[in-house]
Amino acid sequence: MQHTLGRPFRVAGVGLRGGLPAEVEVRPAPRDTGRVFVVDGVAIPATIDNVVDTRLATTLGRGAARVSLVEHLCAALYAAGVDNAEILVDGDELPVLDGSAQLWGAAVAAAGLRPQFAARRPLVVRAPIEVGTKDAWARFEPADHFALDLTIAFEHPTIRTQRFVGVGTGAAFFTELAWARTFGFYRDAEALRALGMARGASLDNTVVYDDTGVMNPSGLRAPDEAVRHKALDAVGDAALLGAPIHGRFTGFRAGHALHLALLRELGAAAR
Ligand SMILES: [Zn+2]
Repeated sequence: MQHTLGRPFRVAGVGLRGGLPAEVEVRPAPRDTGRVFVVDGVAIPATIDNVVDTRLATTLGRGAARVSLVEHLCAALYAAGVDNAEILVDGDELPVLDGSAQLWGAAVAAAGLRPQFAARRPLVVRAPIEVGTKDAWARFEPADHFALDLTIAFEHPTIRTQRFVGVGTGAAFFTELAWARTFGFYRDAEALRALGMARGASLDNTVVYDDTGVMNPSGLRAPDEAVRHKALDAVGDAALLGAPIHGRFTGFRAGHALHLALLRELGAAAR
């Protein structure tokens, strides 16, 4: 069965891109609505077709309306099994909060879920699909649940090669992935700010790596926090298919762009 939220909730903070106050209200929605953002009165369904930018964060758009940094909330809603929700956004991006999906997950858990009398239509991966090159690729294979196998590799002493193998939904998502924070490199910070892209970024919402280690005084939440955040982002990207996925999502040095290319192929193959 499909589910929506038991009651609405509001979350406020600052945006990552602009550093301005950002506030959202997430409301229950009727069956077969899907997860839909509403910005300046314009409804923007959280689907792959509405992705307009994946630099720094996933941005959805329709007409002139834009909403950025949707991936952490989308991941939390998808992982919790919230099929239908209306997300009213004040501003043009979601609050970054602590850079993870932990507070979104807590808000969804506090609101609870309500079953709806309509069947879910899972997207079942029937045959392997792969995109990319030998240096960076992403693949879906058949599996009876939403499985993840992600590898990142950075020439940085605190990151190097990290791999996460696990489950992308339910309790496993909230215990293993939801708390992993966004990360970035100090050497990129000035360039991003010059482009107006990370004015809200700080050590309160981003793990920042300098040339030798981690700049955040409290350190990392886990030695492999970086790959866990990549996995969290991958769940947020997968949520844009708009259906529970039964398949194994494997990525090797893949980012949003490769994830979305793969998800487009999967969506097309399932139609
Ligand atoms: Zn992220």
